[in-house]
Amino acid sequence: MQIDPGKCVACGNCVPVCPMGAIYVDTGIQRATIDGDECVECGTCFRGMSQERLNPTMVRAVRRLARMFRFRFEPEPDVCPTGAFVMDDLEWPRLVRRVFSDPLVEHDSTGIAGRGTEEVKTNDVAHRVGVGEVGYVIEFGRPGTGVRFHQIQAMTTALASSGVTFEPKNPITHLMTDTDAGTLPEELLGEKILSAIVEIKTDLSELGAVLSTVMDVSRRIDTVIAVGVSTRCDDHGEDTFLAPLLEELGYTFERAKTNMGLGRVTNVRKEDAGDQHPASVR
Ligand code: SF4
Ligand code: SF4
Repeated sequence: MQIDPGKCVACGNCVPVCPMGAIYVDTGIQRATIDGDECVECGTCFRGMSQERLNPTMVRAVRRLARMFRFRFEPEPDVCPTGAFVMDDLEWPRLVRRVFSDPLVEHDSTGIAGRGTEEVKTNDVAHRVGVGEVGYVIEFGRPGTGVRFHQIQAMTTALASSGVTFEPKNPITHLMTDTDAGTLPEELLGEKILSAIVEIKTDLSELGAVLSTVMDVSRRIDTVIAVGVSTRCDDHGEDTFLAPLLEELGYTFERAKTNMGLGRVTNVRKEDAGDQHPASVR
């Protein structure tokens, strides 16, 4: 994202709009400026403000005149008065910032916008997490912090070394150069994005070891990390497997989302035919 210095009148309206705090008014040149290293190309500044397209020379003159008479001429707070934002055509590897941060952009690898994954919300029909298994979503960067790929890689390599399986229909897995090692492309490691989700699954017996690894790595990574776990319920819709284990390990948790098993399964594989528990819980 760029701000056209020929159009910007330094009103400062865009500064609080940026979720990464990447926009500041440079008082030396009297223009708003974007810190390109912090900008995640989310498009919030471009789309989130009305663009009035007033003449910049006229606006600057009126603002100067107003200051002389000790009153202020300020645009409405949700408006860029001169339409100064310019969305760049991005190239790899910077392009990945927009793909992971702009909710209107679809991931090529999964066809899903935003973070690019349905997680276990479609487990009724997708059967990602089976009976006796735990699915994990490890979310980085929200709210309002962002994450760099080298931080994600610190987690994925630690998880890989403990032998977990990465969910194939996930954009982070798709980017990996080696899913056994959990490594990401070298040129991506410095890129910053708004947020991302790593998805793995293990047997129930590995729950404690995985959560312990996530906790250890999260102490070394300077961003926000949130973990969700899910499992298949029994035939009565009860979670008699995961909840007792979490309690035993000393975690407090909320049963947050329940798949009701109402999805029509159109892709049942032979090996899944006996695996039709009605619900899963996260
Ligand atoms: S809202 Fe527009 S004119 Fe005002 S500081 Fe930001 S870019 Fe410049
Ligand atoms: S694109 Fe997003 S991160 Fe970049 S300056 Fe605009 S609001 Fe901030």
